[in-house]
Amino acid sequence: MTSPITFDPSLIDMPRGHFIGGRLVESGDTLSVASPSDGQVRAEVCAGDAALVDRAVQDAAHAQATSGWATCAPRERGRVLRRWADLVDAHRDELARLESVCSTRPIRETTAWDVPFTAEGLRFFAEYADKLGGEVAATQSDLLGMVIGEPYGVIGAIAPWNFPLVMGSWKVAPALVAGNAVVIKSSEMTPFSIVRLAQLGIEAGLPAGLFNVVQGEGGVVGEALSRHPLCGKLTFTGSTRTGVAVMTAAAESGPKPVTLELGGKSPQIVHDDIRSVETVAARIFRAFTGNAGQVCVSGSRLIVHRKVADDLVERLVSLTGTVAPGMTWDGDTAYSPVISARQADGIEAIVTRSLAVGATAVAPLRRLACAGDGRFLSPCVLTGVSEQTPAVREEIFGPVLTVQTFEDEDEALSLAAHPVYGLAAGVHTSDLGRAMRAVRSLKAGTVWVNRYGRSSDFVIPTGGFGGSGIGKDLGRQAVEANLRHKSVLMAFGE
Ligand code: NAD
Repeated sequence: MTSPITFDPSLIDMPRGHFIGGRLVESGDTLSVASPSDGQVRAEVCAGDAALVDRAVQDAAHAQATSGWATCAPRERGRVLRRWADLVDAHRDELARLESVCSTRPIRETTAWDVPFTAEGLRFFAEYADKLGGEVAATQSDLLGMVIGEPYGVIGAIAPWNFPLVMGSWKVAPALVAGNAVVIKSSEMTPFSIVRLAQLGIEAGLPAGLFNVVQGEGGVVGEALSRHPLCGKLTFTGSTRTGVAVMTAAAESGPKPVTLELGGKSPQIVHDDIRSVETVAARIFRAFTGNAGQVCVSGSRLIVHRKVADDLVERLVSLTGTVAPGMTWDGDTAYSPVISARQADGIEAIVTRSLAVGATAVAPLRRLACAGDGRFLSPCVLTGVSEQTPAVREEIFGPVLTVQTFEDEDEALSLAAHPVYGLAAGVHTSDLGRAMRAVRSLKAGTVWVNRYGRSSDFVIPTGGFGGSGIGKDLGRQAVEANLRHKSVLMAFGE
C-alpha cells in the first residue's frame, strides 16, 4: 500500500518567477530545474541578471524606508511573523511537496521536519521583536550615553540547495524581525519553496517589498547582490570557496559585513567507555547518511578508540545495507538522492583518489538502482586512511565516512583537528571529564556530546570557526547580526 503522503510530481504547480515588490515577476531567460530522484526536468525558472537585482534591491530599500516596518511598534513585527508561522503550518503539505519535488528532501522528512521547523523558526525569531533593547552606557553624570541597534536597510541573502526552506528562513526571519528588508537568492537547483514562503509572508501582513526573491545563477545574481551598494550586509550559506568570493565582493563594494555559513569536515570521537556500541553506531550512521551526507555538519570523520573500533565499524557496515532510497515524492522513501550528476561524480572522484592512496572501502560506494537518471549513492565507509587522505581532508558532501583509530585522549583530539574546517564535532563518552576536555579543546562552532545534530532549541546558534565561516545563524546572535550599533552621547548639563 502506498503511503498517504506520496504525491505525483507532475501535478505540482511551481512558481517560475522572481518575487519582487510583493508579486511574482517573470523576466529574463529561464533555467531548467530537474528532480534529483529521476533526473527529469520538472519546470523552468526565470533567471535574473544584474539589472533585475538592482531593481529588487532598490524596491526593497524603498519599502524598508517607507512602509513603516522598521518604525512600527516592535511587537507588531513579532505578530506578523507569528501569523506567518501559522500560515506555514496551515500550508504544510503544499510547502512540503514543493520542497520535495526538486530537492533531495524526501516528502516524509519535509512533512515531519523541514516545514514545521521553518514555522517554529519564524516563531522563535518573532519573540525577539521587542526584546532587543540597546544599552545605556556608564558615563559622567551630566552625559547620557546610549548604544542603539538599528537595521542596516537591505540585507542580501544567498542560500544553498541542501535545505532550501529551512536555510532560507534562517536568513530571512532574523533580518526582518530586526527591521530590515531582504533580497534573497536561492539555489538555482531548488528555487521554488522560498517564493511560496514569501507569498505567505505577504498574506500574514508583511509589507510588499520587504521580502524579495531573485532567481538565477550564482555567478550572475549572487555576484550582483554581493556587490550591490545598497545591500548593507550580506548573509551567505554555501561552500567555503563561494563564501570567499562573496566576502571578496563585499570587501570590494563596501566594505560591508558578512555572515558566512560554510563547509565542514566534522569529526566524531568515540571513546571506549560508551555504554552501548549499538546505540552509538546508529547515531554515527544517521550523522553521515542524513540527506545522503549533504549536510554541512555531516559527521564524516569517525575517530574511534582502538578497543571498540572493530565492533563499531562492523555494525556501521551492516547498517549501510539498510537504507531505503526512492523518489523524494514517495512517502516510504527515507534515503535521499544526490542533488546532481556533477555532485555524484565529485563524491565518487574523492573516494577513488582515496582508494588510490591506500584507503580500504569496507563498505564500497555504489550507485543504487533507481528510476531514470536519478543518482543514489550507497553509504561508504573507508578505513586505512590518514590525515593526508583526500576523503579525510576534503569536504565530500556525500554519504562517506572515514575511520581513524586512537589509543588515548590526546591522540583523539589531535586527529579531530582539521587544518581548514571547524564547523561541528561530536564526542561520545560516559566520562564527563573527557567530554568537557574535548569541548574546551575542539576548534568547532558546535560540539555535541552523546548526540549528533541539532534539536529544535533555536536559541543555540549555529556557525563555524576558521574555514567554516564567520558569524551565526539562529540564536540571539543571528538577530543582533542584522543590526548595526549607533553610539549616542547627549550632554544635558550647563
Ligand atoms: P555553493 O557555494 O555552490 O552555492 C551556494 C549559493 O551560492 C547558491 O545559491 C549559488 O547559486 C550561490 N553562488 C554561486 N556562486 C556565487 C558567486 N560567485 N557569488 C554569489 N553567490 C554564488 O554551495 P551549495 O553547493 O549550494 O551548498 C553546499 C555547500 O554549502 C557545502 O559546502 C555545505 O557545507 C555548505 N553549507 C553550509 C551550511 C552551514 O550552516 N555552515 C549549511 C548548509 C550548507
